[in-house]
Amino acid sequence: MQARQIAAALNALADEHRLRRRPVLDTPQGPSVTIDGARYLAFASNDYLGLANHPALAEAMRDGVARWGVGSGASHLVAGHHAAHEALEQELAAWLGLPAALTFGSGYSANLAVVTSLVGRGDAVFADRVNHASLNDACLLSRAAFKRFRHNDLEHLESLLASTPAATRLIAVDAVYSMDGDEAPLYDLLTLAERYDAWLYLDDAHGFGVQGDGRGSLYEHPRLAGHPLVVYMATLGKAAGVAGACVAGSAELVQWLVNTARSYIYTTAQPPAVAEACRAALKVIENEPERRSTLTNHIARLREAGRARLWPLAASRTPIQPIIIGCNEAVLDCAARLREAGLWVPAIRPPTVPEGSARLRVSLTAAHQEADIDRLIDALDCIDWEESRRRRALPA
Ligand SMILES: *Cc1c(COP(=O)(O)O)cnc(C)c1O
Repeated sequence: MQARQIAAALNALADEHRLRRRPVLDTPQGPSVTIDGARYLAFASNDYLGLANHPALAEAMRDGVARWGVGSGASHLVAGHHAAHEALEQELAAWLGLPAALTFGSGYSANLAVVTSLVGRGDAVFADRVNHASLNDACLLSRAAFKRFRHNDLEHLESLLASTPAATRLIAVDAVYSMDGDEAPLYDLLTLAERYDAWLYLDDAHGFGVQGDGRGSLYEHPRLAGHPLVVYMATLGKAAGVAGACVAGSAELVQWLVNTARSYIYTTAQPPAVAEACRAALKVIENEPERRSTLTNHIARLREAGRARLWPLAASRTPIQPIIIGCNEAVLDCAARLREAGLWVPAIRPPTVPEGSARLRVSLTAAHQEADIDRLIDALDCIDWEESRRRRALPA
């Protein structure tokens, strides 16, 4: 892309209803937010437990600033690894029931770290086609053969595993898919990983804090946690409400990452005060299971309404409840109708999702009230779903 070509390329994106812009929030994260100057009831965040503005976390961060200052000052290996990071890693490992954990500034860098440290030239990665973009980037950067299998299609995965010669194999999946809300078949994936002696890498950005007892997708099946082929990654900016990520597994794995992962080594450590807020988040995740039950009730309430009204709701048990509309223009129309009704629900379009599968991505949180869910249901009721079904049949 040359400088003189950018304007035309942006115009082309706008013509395809694909131009992105960033809505500006003027309030903390929560169900009620001010966006671009107007007040909305929002179903847009990944703050599934409502922790992003939780007083205990905010206090922990303030105390952390008082104790540690605002910056970490250096990378972990040089002089930036504070006792707060160390404590967070130990607490995460203990909570997850795994020998060791390593924290990162973001899930994106954690994905780059794990994949590029475990596979390289001569190896192969097997990735679900709707995996998160950061996992795909990690696979490309690793220089391993990059094989993508059809979404949750284990037969396709097995045929690729069987036909791809590789020194080391790694299967990488989102445990909960970020734009679909459905889950990877973890037990069956583990069986395949064992059969082909492959690593099984679980990106649990949307499961940690939410799934099971809060320990996430790792505990969806008893064989996963502590299995020598399983590597687990959780992000701390979604349900945990703060920022960052952790990779958990054996002590050797963590030591290997510390020694080889470029996105761990060549970056400044997260501020220690952020680690303190993450420690407080972990306590809330452990001690307030009622947040998860609230969320479960909201999910059931919305899905029941959707089933009765035949909305094109995706098959999801998680707080991510997409309504698949198909055409980019139609999904933008729907989101605009909802905004007029005072609701902020993001329209997700390609390339974030496959062509022709543009959708409203409703995300529910424990901070929503039942009345909020009912307002959403009433607003969705005003959308002409017949019309959107007709447009879905047309090319995007
Ligand atoms: C958000 C997300 C990431 C990236 O995590 P960040 O901490 O936001 O960088 C990775 N994987 C999945 C599945 C995600 O949804």
